[in-house]
Amino acid sequence: MRDYQMFINGEWVDAEAGRRFDVLNPATAEVIATAPAAGAADVNRAVVAARAAFDDGPWRGTTSQERGRILFRLSQWVRDNAARLAELETLDSGKPIVESEYDMNDVATCFEYYGGLATKITGQVLQVPDNALVFTLKEPVGVAGQIIPWNYPLLMAAWKLAPALCAGCTTVLKPAEQTPLTALELAAAFEQVGLPPGVVNIVTGFGEAGAAIVEHPAVDKIAFTGSQEVGKLIMKNAAPTLKRVTLELGGKSPNIFFADADFAAAVDGALFGVFINQGEVCSAGSRVLVARSIYKDFIEAMVEKAKGIKVGPGLDRDTKMGPLVSAEQLARVNHYLDIGRREGARVASGGGRLTDLGPGYFVQPTIFFDVDNSMTIAREEIFGPVMSVIPFDDEAEALRLANDTYYGLAAAVWTRDIFKALRTVKALRAGIVWVNHMQPTYVEAPWGGYKMSGFGRELGPWGAEEYLETKQVYINLNEERIGWYG
Ligand code: NAP
Ligand code: MG
Repeated sequence: MRDYQMFINGEWVDAEAGRRFDVLNPATAEVIATAPAAGAADVNRAVVAARAAFDDGPWRGTTSQERGRILFRLSQWVRDNAARLAELETLDSGKPIVESEYDMNDVATCFEYYGGLATKITGQVLQVPDNALVFTLKEPVGVAGQIIPWNYPLLMAAWKLAPALCAGCTTVLKPAEQTPLTALELAAAFEQVGLPPGVVNIVTGFGEAGAAIVEHPAVDKIAFTGSQEVGKLIMKNAAPTLKRVTLELGGKSPNIFFADADFAAAVDGALFGVFINQGEVCSAGSRVLVARSIYKDFIEAMVEKAKGIKVGPGLDRDTKMGPLVSAEQLARVNHYLDIGRREGARVASGGGRLTDLGPGYFVQPTIFFDVDNSMTIAREEIFGPVMSVIPFDDEAEALRLANDTYYGLAAAVWTRDIFKALRTVKALRAGIVWVNHMQPTYVEAPWGGYKMSGFGRELGPWGAEEYLETKQVYINLNEERIGWYG
């Protein structure tokens, strides 16, 4: 049990109003820590610090090599502390420890990648039809407000902080109220890796703290990952100050299985696609589209295999599915389980809460079948371990169903026919399409949505680009006067 403080201008502080909130272990529903609930005054303090570090502080003067080295040191610090951070991530979010360990490796890799990229950001010299030298300079956008969700707490923080620092921005980061702990632990490393005060500020609290960041006139850009609902609010609230906005919202991603797919690999891929991280994954393959000729066998095989998914506390090494993050999320998933039944979908396995594991927020991995794409469980993001299986008759119908969604974050297709695979890749309206896999992604490659899954891309050079402005520089090489007015 620990009472955390938040990190503003290089100092550990409480909220000015003294408010705090409880942080729970979702496997036991016990309070494991408290953290400050920031209000508008605290957010203002953080923004003023970030502004000063950007405008007047040493950060503007750092070279890209220096920023790169800071990111490399941060990466090494994460590797050195990975075991401790992974355990805390599991305690805070519920996810299986093995998954937290993968996450910590990805966090370190993310800082490392952007450490390397820092020295590779360059402008261009342009050919122009006059006696002039024209080139572009890449410059940081300024102060970035970064608001993140609870499903991959430290990884989402790294996806935000690493490209921003690489680009030379300063930041105010707000973790989700459910999972603030690992971001606060990371802040403990900032001074020792060489980050000056004010460059990264971590404010903890509720949606109102996020809203205060979005509305603050001294913030230049908002990078948000979270729900579609809050994404819409952010876009609206960023309008009066015309901030740059990037949004990574959710999805209702199709995972398409043609009859010629490798059957065993496909069954594995369908389960992994939607049940990893308790289904609390923005790219979850929650709509499983299956060719009618294999439909019955495919469901039977999935049900058989799903029986072996061990649900339990994340700290148990053999746990394959932990509790949901919160009582609120459990209620949300239960609500969708009810709606699915009410609208006529049939339950092949699971379907309810698991109560024999104590008061933690455990649910069974659930497979609904005979789902119609118009049902609520096929339209709305559930963000839990709930699969909707939908049959299709031919390729055209599969593609029509797959694209019949407001979302467009991710999609996958399983087939051994390369022509069909590539036709599908081109037809799907989504920011990532997997062929014969679902979920792996690397820091080198772009991540983000089409349609109402948001806009902007994270990771790779695209991720840094979102934190950069492009300045045109025109240097006249012609010594004669313009002469326009004679
Ligand atoms: P959320 O409710 O949208 O919250 C996300 C963050 O926004 C939290 O830090 C939240 O604070 C904050 N927030 C809430 N209201 C706000 C407001 N009015 N202004 C500014 N910030 C505000 O999402 P969540 O429940 O934490 O996470 C689940 C959602 O995230 C899912 O819909 C999922 O699809 C999406 N997601 C998307 C991706 C992706 O890459 N596309 C990745 C992960 C998750 P509080 O913590 O206090 O609510
Ligand atoms: Mg929330």
